[in-house]
Amino acid sequence: MARYVDSVCRQCRREGLKLFLKGERCYTDKCAIERRNYPPGQHGQGRQKFSEYALQLREKQKVKRMYGLLEGQFRRYFQMAARSRGVTGEILLQFLERRLDNMVYRMGFATSRAEARQLVRHGHIAVNGRKVDVPSALLSVGDVVSIREKSRKIVRVQEALAQAVHRGSPDWLEVTAETFTAKVKMLPQRQELTMPINEQLIVELYSK
Ligand code: SF4
Repeated sequence: MARYVDSVCRQCRREGLKLFLKGERCYTDKCAIERRNYPPGQHGQGRQKFSEYALQLREKQKVKRMYGLLEGQFRRYFQMAARSRGVTGEILLQFLERRLDNMVYRMGFATSRAEARQLVRHGHIAVNGRKVDVPSALLSVGDVVSIREKSRKIVRVQEALAQAVHRGSPDWLEVTAETFTAKVKMLPQRQELTMPINEQLIVELYSK
């Protein structure tokens, strides 16, 4: 499977904001956005003028990178959202949020989505008591995600949880750090997703 192997901080610098791809480092002054908040490359500090298309493209790239997806996967979520009832942009964001790797990250079991994905792939996660190792599995209201018994001693998980308890978890999740479990109480509403995303631009891009 294709994989992005360059520095992920370049992606943040390209989009001009923190995408929180590197876990704890993103909260320190070592963050590349804190140090060099301009696009990477030879012409990164040159004057930039964005066309309407460029704005739409950047918005799509930003969200895609935020959730660590490739173009084909992202487009499929858009097609699923377009076929669903409701506001396409909002449904798209809901689909992205419902992914298991994203939920594991949101629940605080990992410090980044990439780390969460690895936890899932390596079989450390259970959904409703059964092992699930597919990062793209979509969760529903009422699902209970847990770290499997034998994986609770992993230092990275314990550290991530400690940090998450400190930062707090989203209202749509019910995290019980002591038992390494979390429940999806409801699906996130648009106003609860506070990342700076203009999903309408993505809808316009894919609707051309
Ligand atoms: Fe982005 Fe994190 Fe790198 Fe900062 S440290 S540029 S937020 S990935």
